[in-house]
Amino acid sequence: MRPNENQLGMVMDLNKCIGCHTCTIACKRLWTRGEGMEHMWWNTVNTQPGKGTPKDWEKMGGGFKDGTAQPGHLPTKEEFGEAWEFNSKELFFEGKGMKGKLEIKGDQPDWGPNWDEDQGGGEYPDNYYFYLPRICNHCSDPACLAACPRKAIEKNRENGIVTINADRCRGYRFCMSACPYKKIYMNQQAGIAEKCIFCFPRVEKGVAPACARQCPGRVRFVGYTNDMDAPIGKLIHEWKVALPLHPEYGTSPNVFYVPPLAPALLNKDGKPDAKKSRIPDDYLVSLFGPDVLDALETLKSERDKRKDTGESELMDLLIAYNWKDMFGGFDRDPETIEWVKDPV
Ligand code: SF4
Ligand code: SF4
Ligand code: SF4
Repeated sequence: MRPNENQLGMVMDLNKCIGCHTCTIACKRLWTRGEGMEHMWWNTVNTQPGKGTPKDWEKMGGGFKDGTAQPGHLPTKEEFGEAWEFNSKELFFEGKGMKGKLEIKGDQPDWGPNWDEDQGGGEYPDNYYFYLPRICNHCSDPACLAACPRKAIEKNRENGIVTINADRCRGYRFCMSACPYKKIYMNQQAGIAEKCIFCFPRVEKGVAPACARQCPGRVRFVGYTNDMDAPIGKLIHEWKVALPLHPEYGTSPNVFYVPPLAPALLNKDGKPDAKKSRIPDDYLVSLFGPDVLDALETLKSERDKRKDTGESELMDLLIAYNWKDMFGGFDRDPETIEWVKDPV
């Protein structure tokens, strides 16, 4: 992993995510309420194992291999999942009231942004699932930026946030194919590509991103990834329990994950096998690379230490007793700022 000077990032503790989608809605309310953005979910939370959003995004290519850009599939609107229209107007404003039924209008969908929620994998009694929240990774080597012939994608030198310059973008969508995380959306109405902006207008004023600040699970740590005084730097570099998703995609992502622990696997006789987790190691290695095994060992040993002695700096960091401590100094109350009025 490259050292990240002046790079903002996020650590998400998957052991604490409850799949509530508050993060998704916080982002939707703030940034993607405009025309042509109905299908956009800059923040998604999918159940793993699963096909994710867009459908089967992990099989769509893009990114780099040995420094060479890899071909990628351009995800379709159907693969992302269309925005559905409900008959709520008829029910609530045209007199049907409680006699009617809330239904999707028009063709019935066979895919959506969170279609396989809570389905998971494995066989009973060893079935399992966990939630995987995803945003743009604000990569150190952004494949989207490299692919844009208009030089419309910019990486801020001071904070590493990757943004799309709407004035330069012509909607060619090379960025959408090139991003291996498939985290860019097309605004058909505006004719431009759009994506997570790491809430830069908030961050520039010292306020944490909305998806992090609103998270009731205290899942998301924010800050400069090399800030060793903040939990984010300690979790990535000192404890090495926060890992990038699919590091083999070659873009050096700056969103990191604390991998999920799970109960022991049950043997055929119904007794737990303490050596095996219900989430197969192979599956976690396929997501976070081989370092995930050491990270899981560290988490388990610190958890046991806490149980035996009552002490563990790592457990204290992850529990996050004081939510403001999670944000690496970006803890200003947004109510103290005079914001520009929402034009939507
Ligand atoms: Fe998970 Fe937090 Fe998002 Fe809820 S708000 S889904 S707990 S990351
Ligand atoms: Fe670009 Fe995708 Fe990386 Fe975001 S996650 S910076 S869109 S390559
Ligand atoms: Fe949305 Fe901001 Fe979170 Fe990005 S950082 S997903 S723009 S709320």
